Order: sequence, then structure tokens, then C-alpha cells
Amino acid sequence: MEREGYKQLSYILGNYPTPSYLNTVVPGSLFYVNSIKQVKDLAPALSNFMLQLTPNSKTMIDRQVIDKIGSIPLREIQDTYVEGKVKRVWTFDVSTNPALSIKDVIARQLIEDALKKKKVVPGKTIVVEATSGNTGAGLALLGNYYGLNTVLVVPDKVSAEKIERLRKLGAHVLVAPTKVSPQDPHSYYSIRDLLGKHKNVWVPQQYDNPSNSKAHELFTGPRIWEETRGKVTAVIIPAGTGGTISGIGRYLKSKNPNIKIIGVDTVGSILSLLKQGYSLKDASPHAHSYDIQGFGEDFLPKNMDFNVIDMFIKVSDISGLQMTQMLPSLGFFQGQSSGASYAAFLEALDSNIIRKHDSVFIMFPDVGIPYRHDVYNDTWMQSNKFSFNY
Ligand code: PMP
Repeated sequence: MEREGYKQLSYILGNYPTPSYLNTVVPGSLFYVNSIKQVKDLAPALSNFMLQLTPNSKTMIDRQVIDKIGSIPLREIQDTYVEGKVKRVWTFDVSTNPALSIKDVIARQLIEDALKKKKVVPGKTIVVEATSGNTGAGLALLGNYYGLNTVLVVPDKVSAEKIERLRKLGAHVLVAPTKVSPQDPHSYYSIRDLLGKHKNVWVPQQYDNPSNSKAHELFTGPRIWEETRGKVTAVIIPAGTGGTISGIGRYLKSKNPNIKIIGVDTVGSILSLLKQGYSLKDASPHAHSYDIQGFGEDFLPKNMDFNVIDMFIKVSDISGLQMTQMLPSLGFFQGQSSGASYAAFLEALDSNIIRKHDSVFIMFPDVGIPYRHDVYNDTWMQSNKFSFNY
């Protein structure tokens, strides 16, 4: 059952007219990695999949659409619960980015830096990446603009709706199992690496490619600084690859080293342990799978710059998801990592990490539309034991 009250909102948003610039995009194919049971059959099956792709020809996406990426408006969050406990609270409305998330900014940077270095060739290169969705949506959009095929490997916890959206943006999607170790041959990292060995493939490596955090240092950080007129004193940002928090952190610390840069991590991820000084070897046994999507990691991405991050706040599946369900009552229909970031914000207030004089920016990385069938669906929440009334 769709949650009452969200039903109409999600229906209206979900049926928003597709922008006309996407009319010329041919939807991509879908392939389930789990359908190949034997490890020895994986490589030949994936080879066949790659060979049947026809070259992508440039679609009619206007340059203006690409240039507009990152011009996201600042919005103030009004919440009676926090009134008097903090000076101001802001976020960005990322729904004005063409693929509806903050990750459009890095997709543009990754592809344009690669074009400059001649690592990708329009009409020839296949872009392959492991992504929970948003970077993929951005890459698919940019791929269509530049005439590059995009193949995305996504974990099977990603909703069918999100996968559909990627295909509509022109991406070919490979679905890999979530509950296996990164070293497992079926894991989405292993599948990406296997595909990376094919001819004419370029893997942006969003975890380790410096263009990721550079994009946020060049665009998102300055935008927070300018739009808040330099008044921001703390930021709260969910971390996965670390690109968003590290790029923003680098820029804001260069403007004012006293700005608190607070990361949001999941229970089950090891990022906050690594920040506390644990070695990868000591932290790794603490990693376990979790259900909330989009952030947290079980390894250390090169884009993670702990030097500009003051601390992490950990958020559990249940509190992150519950808080996501609450955000529409504040006027925000957002994805799961946004809810987790708001939960981290409330915890920072409770524990005096954020105080009365602070003006806080909270990153809401994506919108709620692709999550209508999980966090905004009461049956899904109850059957996964994330509701209080199960
Ligand atoms: N939230 C969402 C919804 C995301 O898609 C991502 C990227 N996987 C993040 C948070 C984390 O951002 P980053 O990778 O820049 O650390």
C-alpha cells in the first residue's frame, strides 16, 4: 500500500511529463547477473552482452541542459522542533538537476575530463560503472549528450523503478546481488571490473577518480558558500564515495577553516571507523550489509579526504528510513540518504555538536520519486520491520 498522503504527491511527481530532450533516447536493456549461476559462465555471458550493444549516436539534448547542472536553488528548512535550537537550516533543491540528483555534477566532470584526456571517444566508447543509481543516471544523460553507450551495474536492493528510470535515460543495466562480499565474482564491483577488461570500455571509477570530488570543489562548495552568503557554520553530508563531502569540505575549509564538516555514515559501513584511525584490516570485520541506500562503504574510496571531515554521525536503517518518511511533513519529498542526513542533524543538535549560533547546510542528495515503492510504501516498511507498528 502506498502511504496515504504521499500517494497523490508521488503520483503527480511520478507522472511528471518526461522532458522533451529525452524523447530521442532509446531505452537500454536489462540483464540479471544472478541468472548466470556458474562463475565460469560469467565472463562469456558478459562478453556476449557487450558485443550486442550498438553504438550510441548523439541525441538531441541541448547544451543548456548540461550547463544548467549544479545551478540548484537553496531552500530554507522550517521545522518547529528545531526552532530556537539553531539559527538557520538550509538544503538544495536538487530536483532542478536534469537527472534529479546532486550526482549530475560529477557525471559531467568525469566525462568531460575523460574527453579532454581522450580516454573516451564519442560513438565508440562504452562507459561502465558500478552505481546505486544516481551517478548512473547522470552518466547515462551525459552519455547520450556525447554519444557514448552506458552500462551500469547496480545492486539488487535498488528499486525496480530506479532501474526503469536508468533504462529510460538510455543506460543498459546489469543487476548484481547485494548480499555478497565485494570479492565475490558476482558482486557488482567484480562485474564492473570484468566488463572493464573489454575493448573500448572506459570505467570512470567514481570511487577513486579525482574528477568526482573536484566537481564538488568547483561547483557545489562555492554554491553553498555563495548562496548562504558565507554564513554557513556547519554542513551535514552523507558519504559514500566521499566525493560530495570531500569536495565541499575542501572548498569551505579554504574559505573558513572553522566550518564543521560532518559526514553521515550508515551502521554496517566502516567509514567512521576509518576516520577514527582504525586500519582497513581492523575495521573490515565490522562491515555488514544494510538496507538503506546510497551511502556508507565497506572499503576506503580514494575520493574520501578525511583531512577536511571533522567527524561522522552514524545512522541506522530504521532511523534513516523513518526520518525519510517524515521529510514530506517539512515540505521535502526526498530519497533515503536525505532522511538519514536529517536524522544525523537532529542527533548533532541533541549532542551539542550543533548549537544555537550555528547555521547549517544539510545535503539532500536526491528526490523521493524513485523510492515510492520502498520507503514511501507502508507494506514494504512493515515487511522489512522498519515501521514502529509492525
Ligand atoms: N546519497 C545518495 C542518494 C547517493 O546516490 C550518493 C552517492 N552514491 C550519496 C548519498 C553519497 O555521495 P558521495 O558518493 O559523493 O559520497
